[in-house]
Amino acid sequence: MPLQRFRPISGRCKLCRGEVEIHLASNENAPEECPKCGQEIEACPTLTAPQMKINVKPSVSNAKSAGFKVFKKLDGGELEQQ
Ligand SMILES: [Zn+2]
Repeated sequence: MPLQRFRPISGRCKLCRGEVEIHLASNENAPEECPKCGQEIEACPTLTAPQMKINVKPSVSNAKSAGFKVFKKLDGGELEQQ
């Protein structure tokens, strides 16, 4: 069973420390919420070794330039792609 890494979209979490590993069966969809903290999560991109440690707080522009979809939370709880 593959072990997939996920992280909260906000990039910050005290409960899962910004990353959670979830066993996914092949017929199972990726979860949308962190099982530990309930934040919306996204799959971590697969990193090639050695793993890069980035200590800079992620920003929207950085995320966009890295090719990630960036969402912001609206008042109604809906997500709007920026
Ligand atoms: Zn979390």
